[in-house]
Amino acid sequence: MKAVRVKEFGGPEVMSYEEVDIPTPSENEVLVKIEAAGINYIDTYQRTGLYQIPLPATLGLEGAGIVTETGDSVSRFKVGDRVAYTNVAGAYAEFAAVPEDKLVAIPDGVSFDEGAAAMLQGCTAHYLCQSTYKVKAGDRCLIHAAAGGVGLILIQMVKDMGAFVIGTVSTEEKAELAREAGADEVILYTEQDFETEVKRITDGAGVNVAYDSVGKSTFEKSINCLSRFGYMVLYGNASGPVTEFNPATLGPKGSLFLTRPTLFDYLATREDLDWRSGDVFSWIEEGKLNLRLKHFYALSEAQDAHQALEGRKTTGKVILKP
Ligand code: NDP
Repeated sequence: MKAVRVKEFGGPEVMSYEEVDIPTPSENEVLVKIEAAGINYIDTYQRTGLYQIPLPATLGLEGAGIVTETGDSVSRFKVGDRVAYTNVAGAYAEFAAVPEDKLVAIPDGVSFDEGAAAMLQGCTAHYLCQSTYKVKAGDRCLIHAAAGGVGLILIQMVKDMGAFVIGTVSTEEKAELAREAGADEVILYTEQDFETEVKRITDGAGVNVAYDSVGKSTFEKSINCLSRFGYMVLYGNASGPVTEFNPATLGPKGSLFLTRPTLFDYLATREDLDWRSGDVFSWIEEGKLNLRLKHFYALSEAQDAHQALEGRKTTGKVILKP
């Protein structure tokens, strides 16, 4: 089979499209023929070595496809089932061996492309607004990179919970997408000072929660946008990691909370996996959650896909089609 492999950390050019053996599922695994592999920003961190992974490796943490083989002890799934998963390495490939405890069935009304997008980005948006900071009706929320994969989903979920949403994006085209997803106000943070704008929009009150996946370039100002007891949810590093911070500053700024969550803790149990993916799938089926699926690449074009994602050229989900 074909797979996208990385043997050393570096730019998109370190990804090679290669012939490798089809994995053999162990007794608790199923073999999935991948129909859609989700590309996520975390893949770029693993490729560059910002997040260290053992090498050589096949990239990709999110996939959807069809079960073609099952290990002896597998009981939940059978050959022919439509399934999706996240948090198992190796989705940039034609086949992946996946432990059954990481797999969920995809309902009939959900496509493979939607299934792939739902697992990592959908479940991330879900945990951010349902668990890390449980949004309440009337809350004011700041969402950075609002037209990105997680961003567009998070806006829709938070709006559905009755919040007021301020999004930030880099271009007017992205601003339009954020508005269509439900954002009440959108700031072009590449042209305007978003801290000043948030204070203006909220009449100085600030926001109850800042969902910040941009990191280095936004972190400090995001904290300054918070109201008393506000939550700073730092969940990514698209502009680089935050490396220096003095927790004592949280006091005088309003007894603030700071957290640095990761999806894999919020999907650690079967209960969480079924709850979050089940909600996301049913909201897709009900038409309550629209996924933007416009960026498709062949498996052999993974380098182009990473260049586009890191070059801020994509909106919504980016999918690799084996
Ligand atoms: P996105 O589709 O959101 O792409 C990243 C976006 O970040 C870009 O489109 C861009 O939007 C924005 N950005 C801001 N500054 C930069 C920069 N210097 N270079 C590149 N992009 C920049 O990606 P994902 O939806 O896959 O992920 C979004 C973020 O969420 C990532 O940081 C990711 O690591 C994080 N994440 C964290 C998880 C967790 O559990 N902690 C789980 C899933 C994702 P614009 O042009 O509008 O600025």
